[in-house]
Amino acid sequence: MSNFLQVNNIQIIYQTPTEETMAVKDVSFSVEEGQFVSIVGPSGCGKSTLLSCIASLTTQQKGLILLQGKDIKTQRSDIGYMLQSDNLMPWRSIYKNVLIGLEIRNQLTQENIEYVNSLLKKYGLWQFKDSFPARLSGGMRQRVALIRTLAIKPKILLLDEAFSALDYQTRVNVSRDVFSILRKENKTLVMVTHDIPEAISMSDKVVILSARPSVVKKELNIELCDIDPVNRRNHPAFQGYFNTIWKELSQ
Ligand code: ADP
Ligand code: MG
Repeated sequence: MSNFLQVNNIQIIYQTPTEETMAVKDVSFSVEEGQFVSIVGPSGCGKSTLLSCIASLTTQQKGLILLQGKDIKTQRSDIGYMLQSDNLMPWRSIYKNVLIGLEIRNQLTQENIEYVNSLLKKYGLWQFKDSFPARLSGGMRQRVALIRTLAIKPKILLLDEAFSALDYQTRVNVSRDVFSILRKENKTLVMVTHDIPEAISMSDKVVILSARPSVVKKELNIELCDIDPVNRRNHPAFQGYFNTIWKELSQ
């Protein structure tokens, strides 16, 4: 479906007792079902603010965000949101961690539990289900966090710098895992990153924002389809995409 997610003329202003900060001036873009879209822009330009608005955690002053044609604020339970920190609870086993979203929503049905079991098995975590987070590597923990997010069957996933706490090699490997898991599960992804290679290697489209208060400077389609993030980095087209984004961000 085209225009699965529509971000229309969003403006976001932070108000504190002493001042107003316009973080996002006027941002519009759309995302098709199953598409992976990255948002890049200079530090402090409002990327996280915009993503938390899509997640319905921040309210905009102007504009509207629609998911399948309806105000996204009425569909919060269809949104999966993942941050840099995996936020796993150290005192709960991996299994209890991945079930927490369903537990909170009172949705621990047989069907949902079987779905979680299948994800753990498919993505190499079943044998660790009774372990505690401290025993797992950073990359595995981030995969657990992803499965915890997928457990609630979100229609759309939002990732805010989700890999930036990981060392370089782990980060590249985790981005490949996340890419392949989300493609296989037919998910739609909107992610924020300050890392240009990560944006190109993960996405079908990159939305480039200006400095604060942000507007869209350019949308760039990445025509590398199902080439995985690691192989994309060696693709002949990669450098051209990199140069285009770099130039936009430097202007
Ligand atoms: P980015 O993720 O692109 O680095 P942010 O969305 O975090 O940028 O921040 C955009 C701007 O909004 C920054 O100038 C930041 O200082 C400001 N800002 C972010 N959160 C708040 C807040 N809760 N209150 C006031 N200003 C904020
Ligand atoms: Mg941010």
